[in-house]
Amino acid sequence: MDLKKLGLSALMIAAVSSTTFGTAANAVAKPGSQLINFEQAGTEATRYLVDYIKIDTSNGPGINPTGNEKAGADFLASILKANGIEATVFESAPNRGCVYARLKGNGKKKAVILLSHIDVVPAKGENWLHGPFSGEIHDNELWGRGTLDMKGMGIANLETMLLLKRSGRTLDRDVIFLGTADEEMGGAMGAKWFVDHHPELVKDAEYLLTEGFYIDSADDGKARYWGIDVAEKNLLWLKLTAKGAAGHASMPIANSAPNRLARALQKLVDSPVKPIILPEVRDYFKSISVAEKGQLKAAFADIDAAVKSPETLKSLQKDSIKAAMLQNTYSLTIIKAGYKTNVIPTEATAELDCRLLPTVNPDDFVNEIKGIINDPQVEVTKLDWIKAEPSPFNTECIETIKAVAAKEAPGVPVVPVIIPWFTDSHWFRDLGITSYGFLPFQINQKGIATVHGINERIPLDEFKNGIRRLYLMVEKLCTTK
Ligand SMILES: [Zn+2]
Repeated sequence: MDLKKLGLSALMIAAVSSTTFGTAANAVAKPGSQLINFEQAGTEATRYLVDYIKIDTSNGPGINPTGNEKAGADFLASILKANGIEATVFESAPNRGCVYARLKGNGKKKAVILLSHIDVVPAKGENWLHGPFSGEIHDNELWGRGTLDMKGMGIANLETMLLLKRSGRTLDRDVIFLGTADEEMGGAMGAKWFVDHHPELVKDAEYLLTEGFYIDSADDGKARYWGIDVAEKNLLWLKLTAKGAAGHASMPIANSAPNRLARALQKLVDSPVKPIILPEVRDYFKSISVAEKGQLKAAFADIDAAVKSPETLKSLQKDSIKAAMLQNTYSLTIIKAGYKTNVIPTEATAELDCRLLPTVNPDDFVNEIKGIINDPQVEVTKLDWIKAEPSPFNTECIETIKAVAAKEAPGVPVVPVIIPWFTDSHWFRDLGITSYGFLPFQINQKGIATVHGINERIPLDEFKNGIRRLYLMVEKLCTTK
């Protein structure tokens, strides 16, 4: 990767973009958002995103070199520095690293962190219509791995820093920009590394904003709701071990280890779903019911009643994200037994990836699994348990997002979402920082399917809208009128 070239183009863009506030801003010492030319800011950010996409920061099994996030961190730091914002790159491992910058406020309120991850999941170029690291623009859409997850928001965070800096406004809070490595593989060399090695740089924060949910778009292009990730399902990995006598396969053993395991697994995969309605989930369905029609509207409005009907529950489960909010889940991922076709082995094992709703105790869940299996000869052990506290939905930050949404999208509700997957939020929730996951872009189901899939791209109009929305949220959160 030609970093020098990237750095130079960033500098050139910075020079061009110093007019983002227009001539009116020059006449006023401390302009507010009404004086920002968001069209110009969007164009500037688009050029940054094109260059950022071209830096291949693939992170996944078998990828060598892994991540290469330092190149991304250096790129982001170079733009910050060119715009007069001090930025530091921390190397967590060779070629890997995090970028950190802070706009100082007057200390009236605690800081807010704008967090994004620099790495992306790998992409096989031959399956894409336009190269995943090309940064090409076609039909007003910017193509590339990371445009949605999450280099697009990384650049929106960056542009927010630049606009705040250029505005010269007095901030009530410090605004921290943090770009991390390794999110896609769990964060050991990224967010975890950063909070372990430099907790002093983030621990004064009250809020953190990062990816999570998004503005849900109907197929007709209308926004259904702004979904804010307030909690993520907790991860529990379990191992099932069945033991039995060894023998020659010509003389079957009814209770052999593989047979016991097969029976246990059969019971698990056949076990009916037990819905659990958490208060946040009840609020979520009630809020989004306004955008629905007919049976779905009625079901969402009274989700407790809806899940009692097996038919309605079945239809709700067709939407895997919504279904995941209504239940603990387990997926059978690994099965192992035997080494030779004619030998009955003494041990057979399986692994389950379980995702538990917040408030569910892992030991209670293990007991539930044991109850379903109902065979004391099959041992159930915990391999891993990662838990994060949910963030409340009645904070100044949420009120701020609601206020911006009311102006940007009148009548579109802002709702709490429990997401079934993981982000880096939990590392910061562990430090007591209230964390929200919200991509400020309106995305439909087709768009979401490209995340970790093929042909990931972002409509440029939506990218620019997202920059305006994010800036307005952060400005409102950090400035008094
Ligand atoms: Zn992501």
